[in-house]
Amino acid sequence: MRQSLIMGNWKMNGNRESSKTLCEAIIAGLGDGNGAEIAICVPYVYLSDLQTLTSNSPLALGAQNVANQESGAYTGEVSASMLKEFGCKYALVGHSERRSYYGDTDESVAERFCQAQKQGLIPVLCIGETLEEREQGKTFHVVNTQLDAVIAKAGLAAFANAVIAYEPVWAIGTGRTASDEQAQEVHQAIRERISAQDATIAENLQILYGGSMKADNAKGLLAMPDIDGGLIGGASLDAQSFLKIYHSI
Ligand code: PEP
Repeated sequence: MRQSLIMGNWKMNGNRESSKTLCEAIIAGLGDGNGAEIAICVPYVYLSDLQTLTSNSPLALGAQNVANQESGAYTGEVSASMLKEFGCKYALVGHSERRSYYGDTDESVAERFCQAQKQGLIPVLCIGETLEEREQGKTFHVVNTQLDAVIAKAGLAAFANAVIAYEPVWAIGTGRTASDEQAQEVHQAIRERISAQDATIAENLQILYGGSMKADNAKGLLAMPDIDGGLIGGASLDAQSFLKIYHSI
C-alpha cells in the first residue's frame, strides 16, 4: 500500500521570521499524525533555520530545485550535496514555473533528477500540460514526453526512489482545480505507462496532484485511487489550511 504524501511548495514567499513561525505552527498542528508523510519545499536560504526546527519532527524538508551539475562554475546554482547537508529529503525538479520562466528543459530536468538521486535526495518530478495543450487534446502526449525524457536519462528503475507530481499548468495558482476525475485520468495513465515497464515500481510510486488544492477540494482528489497526495502552493502558506489538507487524508 502506498503511503500518502502532502508536500508544501512555499515558492518565493515569506521572510526569515515568518518561515520559522509557519514551520512551527505546522509541526504543532500535526499531533500524532495520521500515517501520511508531510514535507515542505522552502527557499534555499531558510533551510538552515528550518533544519533545526524540523530535525526531531515528522515534517520533512525539501528544496524547490536542484542544480543539474555536481559542482563547479555554475553561478547561482545549489547542488544536491549542499541540499543534503541542510537536511533536505526531497527536491522538486521541473516545476512549471521553472520550465516557463527559467528555461528548464526536459533534458535539464532529467539531469537535475539524476543529480538529486545521486546524492540520496528524492526527486519530485513535476509534469503537466498548459490549458492550450489540454484544449488541443495533447495532455497525454505532453505528460508522456516530459516523463519519457527522465526515464530515458535516469532509467525506469530510478522511479523506485522518486515521486511524480502531476500539475496541470492551468490549475497552478489560478484557483481552478482539475476535477477529481480529470486528475485521476492522468494519474492512472502515468501509472499505466510505468507499469508497462515495471508493475512493482508503478504500484509503489507516489503520484501527487498539484494545482489549487485547498482544504475544501482535497478530500475528493485524495480519495481517487491513483492520487497519492498533493503538492500544494498557495494553501501551504497558511498552517491551518495546509494542516486541514493533511488531516483530510
Ligand atoms: C505549485 O506551485 O506546485 C502549486 C500547485 O501551486 P498552487 O497550489 O498555488 O496552485
